[in-house]
Amino acid sequence: MSLRLGALPQFKVPPKGEHYDVLIVGAGPAGLSAAVYASRFLLKTVVVSEDVGGQLNLTNVVDDYPATLSISATELISRFREHAEKLFGVPIYTNITVQKFSREGDEYHVTGTRGLDVYSKTIILAVGSRRRKLNVPGENEFAGRGVSYCSICDAPLYKGREAAAVVGGGDAAFEGAILLSGYVKKVYLIHRRSEFRAKPFYVQEAMSRPNIEFVLNSVVTEIKGDKVVRSVVVKNNVDNNIRELNVDGVFIEIGFEPPKDWYQSLGLEVDELGYVKTDLWMKTNLPGVFAAGDAISLWRGFRQIVNAAASGAIAAYSAYTYLTEHGLVRRPALASREAK
Ligand code: NAP
Repeated sequence: MSLRLGALPQFKVPPKGEHYDVLIVGAGPAGLSAAVYASRFLLKTVVVSEDVGGQLNLTNVVDDYPATLSISATELISRFREHAEKLFGVPIYTNITVQKFSREGDEYHVTGTRGLDVYSKTIILAVGSRRRKLNVPGENEFAGRGVSYCSICDAPLYKGREAAAVVGGGDAAFEGAILLSGYVKKVYLIHRRSEFRAKPFYVQEAMSRPNIEFVLNSVVTEIKGDKVVRSVVVKNNVDNNIRELNVDGVFIEIGFEPPKDWYQSLGLEVDELGYVKTDLWMKTNLPGVFAAGDAISLWRGFRQIVNAAASGAIAAYSAYTYLTEHGLVRRPALASREAK
């Protein structure tokens, strides 16, 4: 087997005015899987992204990506990247935000930060989503001074401290609380309901840790401190009781929101929460524009790496089908060899 070992990009931004078959926005599992498949279809492909890894950067160890058994998120990110970039030769340009694309003939004119100015016949949006905020007093004031949105990233900084609060009832909150329970003496898991979205495994594990206290049916109303966070004020939704918990850190793990306004400015149809509407082939309402991974409305409640990767592969296939059906690339045929 000959490997098409790709040249790493010579430019920090794709060459101005360059034309592609497929431009992929985002370099998480969805975007990088799309890159692998698009390259397999011999499409001229480029990835443009703010970072590499997307939400995988917020995870510690991945235990549920099939066939990897247990792998550090950092290692998995680098494998996704190497697969697309080194094995399949797809250039990946990072630290670029795609701002706009608009139809020009058979192509989209794509522009963004750092002078991005290219054309592509198809676009695959795999931009993930951004962190949701609590919007309570003290949250912005203490961001980076005890308020964190990534327990996986910041938990080790709290080693030996007295207490931390984690807000949320999903996988991320539980993963964070379990991790933090190994660093701080006491962890409060604050959740607005008494049922959890988190997988039963996480709930079972958290319940087995004696230093995790569940503060349920409760919402955070204020984060207080001086130079750093000192406490969090919590109101019980059932009896309206108010508690002030002394903590050194507050980890807000209440999910993610899509860039709804941006999607709408591009003319994309979104669901009521702002996720891109697609069909099962990842087609959006715009011709030649596909979406994959956490950006899409499908599987909104079950965002998994395996789903992101699968949807990226499907989006690449759909892009290839679109290009061939519109005569924008040719399917391989023996006649093309005979014509040479
Ligand atoms: P999530 O599953 O959407 O859960 C968010 C949690 O925050 C919910 O419990 C929600 O409460 C609560 N919440 C939302 N808005 C709130 C607000 N304004 N105030 C208070 N609480 C609020 O988000 P996530 O835990 O970040 O996970 C995101 C996705 O990544 C999920 O699909 C998850 O499965 C996946 N993930 C997977 C793993 C893993 O498999 N190892 C690890 C991390 C994340 P309600 O329940 O009341 O709505």
